[in-house]
Amino acid sequence: MNHQPFETWNLDRTKLTPDQQTELARHLETCPECRHTATAWECVQVEIKSVPQVKAPVGFATRFQNSLAERRRQAHYRQTRKMLGILGISLLVIFLLLAASILVRTSPAAWIGSIIRIIVDAPFNLLELRFIAAFWLAKIPPLAWIGASSVITAWMLVFTLTGALTYKRFHHQGELR
Ligand SMILES: [Zn+2]
Repeated sequence: MNHQPFETWNLDRTKLTPDQQTELARHLETCPECRHTATAWECVQVEIKSVPQVKAPVGFATRFQNSLAERRRQAHYRQTRKMLGILGISLLVIFLLLAASILVRTSPAAWIGSIIRIIVDAPFNLLELRFIAAFWLAKIPPLAWIGASSVITAWMLVFTLTGALTYKRFHHQGELR
């Protein structure tokens, strides 16, 4: 037997229309299960109403209000710390994977050798890079410079805005918790 919507109506009769109340009464006459629910629920309500209300300790509301800001601040702090922790762990995992893959593919001797080579060659490489850069920079017309710098500026603006909005959102979430 389907007891809906009577099961729901049983638990909150305050919102029922007179028609619904009559329907519910008729159903209760024929359905022992719903009658049982109704009696049990009435008992619970009587119990709840018969328990004396306890007054909150003096100054409870004020203390609650005062500590609210502090609790929100702490929640925000915890959230930020969690985000930074996740970020740090992800970076560490990526770094470890990279290091592991390099170590697996090369021997320590080759490693040390290439490090030494990089250090020794660095001045020459830098010099070469500077020549290459100067050569190409001289070839770029001034208009392209203006274009490139405006594109870079626009991108930086977009990144800054997105970052600020993301921070604000997380900040807000922290306050809501
Ligand atoms: Zn029923």
